[in-house]
Formats: sequence, C-alpha cells, structure tokens
Amino acid sequence: MAVLVIAEHDNKTLKRATLQAVDAAARLGEVHLLVLGSGVDAVAQAAAKVAGVAQVKVVDDPALAESLAEVVTAQVVPLAKDYSHVVAAATAHGKDFMPRVAALLDVAQISEVTGIDSADTFRRPIYAGNAIATVQSSDPIKVLTVRGTSFDEAAAEGGSAAIEKVAAVAVDGQPALVGREQASSDRPELTAAQVVVAGGRGLGSAEQFQAVLEPLADRLGAALGASRAAVDAGYAPNDWQVGQTGKIVAPQLYIAAGISGAIQHLAGMKDSRIIVAINKDEEAPIFSVADYGLVADLFEAVPALTAKLG
Ligand code: FAD
Repeated sequence: MAVLVIAEHDNKTLKRATLQAVDAAARLGEVHLLVLGSGVDAVAQAAAKVAGVAQVKVVDDPALAESLAEVVTAQVVPLAKDYSHVVAAATAHGKDFMPRVAALLDVAQISEVTGIDSADTFRRPIYAGNAIATVQSSDPIKVLTVRGTSFDEAAAEGGSAAIEKVAAVAVDGQPALVGREQASSDRPELTAAQVVVAGGRGLGSAEQFQAVLEPLADRLGAALGASRAAVDAGYAPNDWQVGQTGKIVAPQLYIAAGISGAIQHLAGMKDSRIIVAINKDEEAPIFSVADYGLVADLFEAVPALTAKLG
C-alpha cells in the first residue's frame, strides 16, 4: 500500500511544509501526492517534480479554491481508503481538516509526529515537548500530521511522477467563505524563516519592541517572534507568538531577547539549529537551551549587535 500526502499550497506554489511531509511519508512507503485546489496546474507540475513522489492526484475544482476543511475532507476520505497512511503537515491547514478525515474513517489521528519508527509506530511530543510518546497504531489506515521541523525537505526537483486527474466530490450544503483577514508582511513567514529574532516581556513596551528588535531583524532578513507574555502585554501581534500555544519554529538561528525561557516557550523553539539568548538574569532558563548566551541588558546588547552587523 502507498502513502497519500495532502499537498499544501496557495493554488500557485507548493509550500515547503509539503516537502517536509513528503520526506516523512517516504519513510513509510510509496508516496502519492494529492493536490486539491482551483486552477492548480502549476502546483500539480511542481508536485510531479518532487523527488520521491511516485504519483500525483489532482482534484481541480472552483469549490476547492479556498481550501475549506469540509470540502477538502470530502475529497480525501474516499481516496484514503486505498492507502495505508494519510499524511499532512501539522500546520493550521493540516490541523483544520485532518481530524475530520480521521473521524470519518473512524480511526485515531496521530498528531504532530516527530519521528517514524516503523509503519505503525510513531513518536510525538507530549506535555509541551517535555516527554516523547511512542505510539503504536492498530488502525487499518493511519492518519498522521507531521511536524515539519523534525523532517528534512524532499528535493523540489528530480522526480517525474505521473499526474492523474480525479473528479471532485460534491459537498452537501457547501460552506461559503465569509471573509479572510490575512496579515501581510515583507518579512519571511515565521515558521519558514531561516532566522527568527524574538522578544519577550523584557522589551517593556510595543515601541521598544519595535525600536530595538526591528533593526536587528532587518539586518538579518529575519522574521520577528515573541513570547506569550510579550503578546499578552500588547508588545507584539498574536501571530508572532512562539511556543506551546503559538507557532513551532526551528530556524537556523533563533535570537531570544528578554525571554526567560519558560517550558511553554521552549516547546516552540528548542529545535532551532543555533539559539542565542540575551538576558540580564544569568539564572534565566533560556540559557539552558542556548548555544550562545549573553548576560547583558538587551537595550545595550541588541543595538550593539545590530551596529556590528551594519
Ligand atoms: P518573563 O518570564 O517575564 O521573562 C522576561 C525576561 O526578560 C526575564 O528573564 C528577565 O530577566 C528578562 N529581562 C528583563 N529586562 C531585561 C533587559 N533589559 N535586558 C535583558 N533581559 C531582560 N509562553 C510562550 O512564550 N509561548 C507559548 O506558547 C506559551 N503557552 C503557554 C501555555 C500555557 C498553558 C501556559 C500556562 C503558559 C504559556 N506560556 C507561553 C507562558 C509562559 O509560561 C511564560 O509566562 C512566558 O513565556 C514568559 O514570557 P517572557 O519570557 O517574555 O516573560
């Protein structure tokens, strides 16, 4: 049996999360990539080139333009019955429709998989990443969401999969999208950024957060992140929150300024390649995960670092 991976895209380009899901799925068996969308020829072509993908299935229908969970689920469920595993990235999109897929297949979803031991045994973090559970599933179809930061990216080029068109399944009482509010930014997307500059309560105000961290992020071409305390205090927008109840990131470089390093924050960033912590309290727990720690006042250290990079 093969593995069905649900591609994530914006109807134009394939997202990096798809390549990570393909890398995970390739450890389980032959990978078939399912592209659901509207006007997705370019996405299907890109999907066919991904190394390790044996087949691309495409459902191209205007009803799928917005990737609404109800409509996506209706396409995935009948196809899933021919597969041993259904895999999607554990992103907002994957988390939206995969539980519905699992429920309709009457199987348990295995969420946020970070390791694959065998075709039925998976590792996933629990207790905010403080313990790793090894889960064995006896379900006939395994429905998995995989954490991208734990896998490599399959090469975007090198494959030559056949593309098969599949007719869309109509949905009773088709849901309609009322509106979508999307933040736009010139910065890289937080979960995809190679460098993240994050600030905590130590920044003291929204104005200081901006004045101190933005120049450094600009120099490094970085995304901005924040602790929950910084978000709750209004220093940074909600969608910058990193951690257990925020985003999970694993950039090449994570700079944490004025962040104490509570376990709930570490749960979202401790897999970063290199962690730099700037904190005036040498006992701050962030130093336990930092590769480079600077015990200093961030209002002096961050501008000095920014100036050196100039
Ligand atoms: P603080 O803990 O107040 O730390 C501020 C730090 O700044 C201190 O270490 C201080 O020494 C340092 N500092 C102050 N001034 C300076 C200065 N001038 N120069 C240098 N350093 C300075 N938190 C998250 O971040 N993400 C989550 O997703 C998240 N989810 C949670 C879920 C649950 C269920 C719960 C209960 C909590 C969650 N939290 C989360 C909150 C978490 O427990 C902490 O409260 C939070 O991370 C603290 O943020 P902070 O480090 O910015 O603030």
